[in-house]
Amino acid sequence: MMMSSEQGSVPNTTLAGSQPILTVRDMRKSFLVGRDALWRHKLLLHAVRGVSFSLERGETLGLVGESGCGKTTLARLILQLIRPDSGSVYLDGSPDLCTLSQAALRPYRRRLQIIFQDPYGSLNPRMTVGSIVGEPLIIHRLCSKKERQERVKALLHEVGLSPRAMNRFPHEFSGGQRQRIGIARALAVGPDVIVADEPVSALDVSIRSQIINLLERLQEQFQIAYLFVSHDLSVVAHLSHRVAVMYLGELVEIAPKRALFGEPLHPYTQALLAAVPQPDPKRKAPRILLRGEVPSPVAPPSGCSFHPRCPLVFQPCSTAKPTLCEVRPNHFVACHLYDPEYVRTPVS
Ligand code: SF4
Repeated sequence: MMMSSEQGSVPNTTLAGSQPILTVRDMRKSFLVGRDALWRHKLLLHAVRGVSFSLERGETLGLVGESGCGKTTLARLILQLIRPDSGSVYLDGSPDLCTLSQAALRPYRRRLQIIFQDPYGSLNPRMTVGSIVGEPLIIHRLCSKKERQERVKALLHEVGLSPRAMNRFPHEFSGGQRQRIGIARALAVGPDVIVADEPVSALDVSIRSQIINLLERLQEQFQIAYLFVSHDLSVVAHLSHRVAVMYLGELVEIAPKRALFGEPLHPYTQALLAAVPQPDPKRKAPRILLRGEVPSPVAPPSGCSFHPRCPLVFQPCSTAKPTLCEVRPNHFVACHLYDPEYVRTPVS
């Protein structure tokens, strides 16, 4: 069996020699979606199935995958906005956040913030921008009323908005400006980690680059770690240090950006990258056509979840589950092709 850097059944995907600020271990979450008509058995949608990774200070980990693969559920589990069925989340020096009560979680929520996808829906239209950005400071009792005014002004300045914005309402701003307000709110409490859930997908292309540049500058300034959830591979390629690829609730590959985009190892990652349109018509990359539809997360396939669609499927794939193993330095992949125990002979 190929050697992996596993601790028990959970691979340690931290960059070699680094100290993680966020560690996620074997995260699992299912949702009840109904009952079997004949036997009344519970039908469970397996949204996240044993995800583990870690993130170091000042690092951006891009999380990519098709819609419905469990990216947003995973983000919400890490933030404890929904509770997992099992698994652990640690911030550097913290106890397991999944075991804490809401009251005990409060000091750790400060260190773990979110930027939402929808800059229109994520801001309360009845509150002024000053109240929205200042609200986390009140919740976490971080400063007096007078200090709060100054802190909000400084935060707005930090994200490129005028202090005059304080007394205005969200509807008076454009999409890009609203996303800046959301970023200022996330920054208010001095987080170590920000989970950015598709933060630029609702914005115009011209505004997108401004927000990406802002996120990069803030990361450099405050050494914040980002978990950047996106289906846009070009944005992820620009912003991330490492990239994790998710399929049907599981991580199938995680690697430094250059390695993942330069030489993807998992057949699903190869297909995802081959589907990205090339701006230069002369540089035609071979297309990889996947068979069939994404299987239902209510009844995920046995063995490798990708086997019904994989162009390289072979004998063990439908029965043996591949685990995430380090096949090159810091490059982890869950695929039997890289397991010396198996010799590939294609399925006819
Ligand atoms: Fe394809 Fe088999 Fe690898 Fe799964 S384990 S990705 S089916 S080759």
